[in-house]
Amino acid sequence: MDGCKRMKAIAILGATGSIGASALDVIRKNPGRFEPVLFSAHTDVASLLQLGEEYPDARLALAGSVENAPKEIHYTGREGLLQAIEESARSGCVLAVNGIAGAAGLEPSLAAIDAGMDLALANKETIVMAGEVALRKAREKSVAVIPVDSEHSAVFQLLRAHGGAGGDSAGGVLSENLDSIVLTASGGPFRALSPRQLARVTPKDALAHPTWKMGAKITIDSASMANKGLEVIEAVKLFAVPPGKVKVVVHPQSVVHSMIRLSDGGIYAQLSKPDMRRPIQDALFFPNKGAASFDSLDMTSLTLDFEAPDEKKFPLLPLAYQVAKARGLYPAAYNAANEEAVSLFLKERIGFLDIARIVEAVLQRDWTGAVAMDAVWEADKKARSCVYEMKSLLHAS
Ligand code: NDP
Ligand code: MG
Repeated sequence: MDGCKRMKAIAILGATGSIGASALDVIRKNPGRFEPVLFSAHTDVASLLQLGEEYPDARLALAGSVENAPKEIHYTGREGLLQAIEESARSGCVLAVNGIAGAAGLEPSLAAIDAGMDLALANKETIVMAGEVALRKAREKSVAVIPVDSEHSAVFQLLRAHGGAGGDSAGGVLSENLDSIVLTASGGPFRALSPRQLARVTPKDALAHPTWKMGAKITIDSASMANKGLEVIEAVKLFAVPPGKVKVVVHPQSVVHSMIRLSDGGIYAQLSKPDMRRPIQDALFFPNKGAASFDSLDMTSLTLDFEAPDEKKFPLLPLAYQVAKARGLYPAAYNAANEEAVSLFLKERIGFLDIARIVEAVLQRDWTGAVAMDAVWEADKKARSCVYEMKSLLHAS
């Protein structure tokens, strides 16, 4: 094991997904630097076993269907995953990449922080639902939460470059000199459609993202701009700024990953090809920089367009601003209602525009309350059952 001494032991949660695959690619391209010691999946046994063959010393955890799990998979179910995280930390794992999709990523994030691991966080739901709790725990444990979401990774780098956001992204954020954070949005595949056309789009249309190849849920969210809504909330909590300081601009090329505007009017941007391996690599090497060249951006052949988002056509974006202002359990309710609505849309039980209608209707209820874990999970559950109570909406299309 001598050769492994300088290797950073890392856990890859959601290893069988899009973020997981990109993380593994970064690891393979940096031989001798990272040692994966835990892989988790939900139900994809075959891919998990394949990872086990490539890395025979790594723990394997299957969070979902546990019946007849093959003997190589020692950790099963939700409890098994949490136990695997804790045991990995005890045996020297220092960083968890969380690429689990949806609210299911929250508990593993908290478990990783509790166990003292730094967190390379793609799972934006962790911050949206319970950022207050996660970031407080992280400060208590002196662990770093390093954003992997490309926009937040860009903002994190920009703030650090300007002397803000130390090792802890929520801390001391250039508070005097920061005018605003400008998140870029690709605008998704439906940017140019009319409202009438939007009403008829299918899951297949929505899954064809113009610039990013990602899991199904986030791809639908990109088409509805719920993804940018979640990211506005994520930025507000992660960088401890009021919602009015987080702006969104549509930038179809997805080359500028985000910007910060300082009080003197200067705007600073982070540019690279749209490739998640870059922000993942930044998080894996944090606080240093990696050397792999995923993005040789040719500056001589770039066209960069920017336009304002159409808030009428994509109401999930302005709704997210209201949610970010209201805070409390509103973000958890927004997230849960949207997750359920997206899942109904993917099953073709509701139309595309029903997603926003449903989320808006759920948010009419009272979601005030302090952000404590029991309350967050209760709000999550209640918001999901609200969606199913809305029978009239579900049959509307
Ligand atoms: P994918 O759907 O591609 O992958 C999800 C991963 O999570 C899979 O490994 C899946 O396992 C696992 N998983 C799914 N449900 C559960 C569950 N209930 N319990 C435990 N594990 C589960 O998603 P993405 O990689 O696209 O996204 C992951 C996260 O990263 C999301 O929060 C997303 O918003 C965020 N993100 C993704 C980006 C991207 O480019 N993909 C960009 C920025 C953020 P299995 O394969 O067995 O189903
Ligand atoms: Mg993003």
